[in-house]
Amino acid sequence: MRTLWVLCVLFITFASPATAAPDKDKSCKKLPKEMASALGSAIHQKDEFVVHYHATGPNAIQEKADLNGNTIPDAVEDVATKLIAMREMLTSNGFVHPFKQPRYQQVRQIHAIMLPVKGNGVAYESPRTMPDGTCALIIHVDNDVSSENITPAHELFHLFQYGYTMFKRPWYLEGMARWSESMLRATPPKTAPLPKSNAELTAFFDKKYDAVGVWYALTTGVDPVGQIKVPESAANLRYVSGKKMVQDDKLPGVAFMRAVLEGLDKLDDQISTAQGLTPFGWSESMQRDQKHDLPMWKLIETLYHTHGPTGRAAP
Ligand SMILES: [Zn+2]
Repeated sequence: MRTLWVLCVLFITFASPATAAPDKDKSCKKLPKEMASALGSAIHQKDEFVVHYHATGPNAIQEKADLNGNTIPDAVEDVATKLIAMREMLTSNGFVHPFKQPRYQQVRQIHAIMLPVKGNGVAYESPRTMPDGTCALIIHVDNDVSSENITPAHELFHLFQYGYTMFKRPWYLEGMARWSESMLRATPPKTAPLPKSNAELTAFFDKKYDAVGVWYALTTGVDPVGQIKVPESAANLRYVSGKKMVQDDKLPGVAFMRAVLEGLDKLDDQISTAQGLTPFGWSESMQRDQKHDLPMWKLIETLYHTHGPTGRAAP
């Protein structure tokens, strides 16, 4: 079966300038007009997730099946259930929910807005004040994704990444998010050789989604068995069609990936201190600056050598 890869566009956020006052860092910003006008005419809420959608009109969801006859399109219900499944898988495997991170302590909801999107989805890093006053993180999901498309889970993982660290280098952000997709689906890792020369490393730093091959090489290297926890709260979740949301209990390198995120969290703090920046006040260009590549990679390499099975040879 052809894999449904997620194409996600990283949004150029309305990041705070580097000079923002510390007490502004955790503020919940005003919802921009273009975002407010994109909110759906109907909502479906489950736990902290609020799915917005249009049943009719130019932004209407394309897959209108309603197998369970509850008047909520299955594609909408499946977005909400998939977000819950991904949250349960991530938190059960030790990843810290964004709301529990210092950066997002003020946030109470995650709004998934279904509308036409370039690519399949977008995850926005800045919390926004919704019309009812709730502080929320926002993801956009294309209105024509199929019920089983993994995009919502991929975008939720970006919110977890944003909770840990300010870095937005695509080889890290998209490569790791693509790895995370296999929390829900059974996908055998397709590994790529670890970069060895400076030229190979430079080529790797230019990758986005296809950086996942190196991430899989790292994670299978440290954790060839790749057993993960599937809590009952996720194992029992199904698409409206009846298919299980979580396909298997295999994904290599969960502890390693957690350590990478924790390490990047510390690394961005060190950079903030050294450069006099507020911890969450990095400009967009600072978050995306390729000068971070080598320090990030050195951290990852060190963790690779300390997390591997005993006696594993260095790459
Ligand atoms: Zn993405």
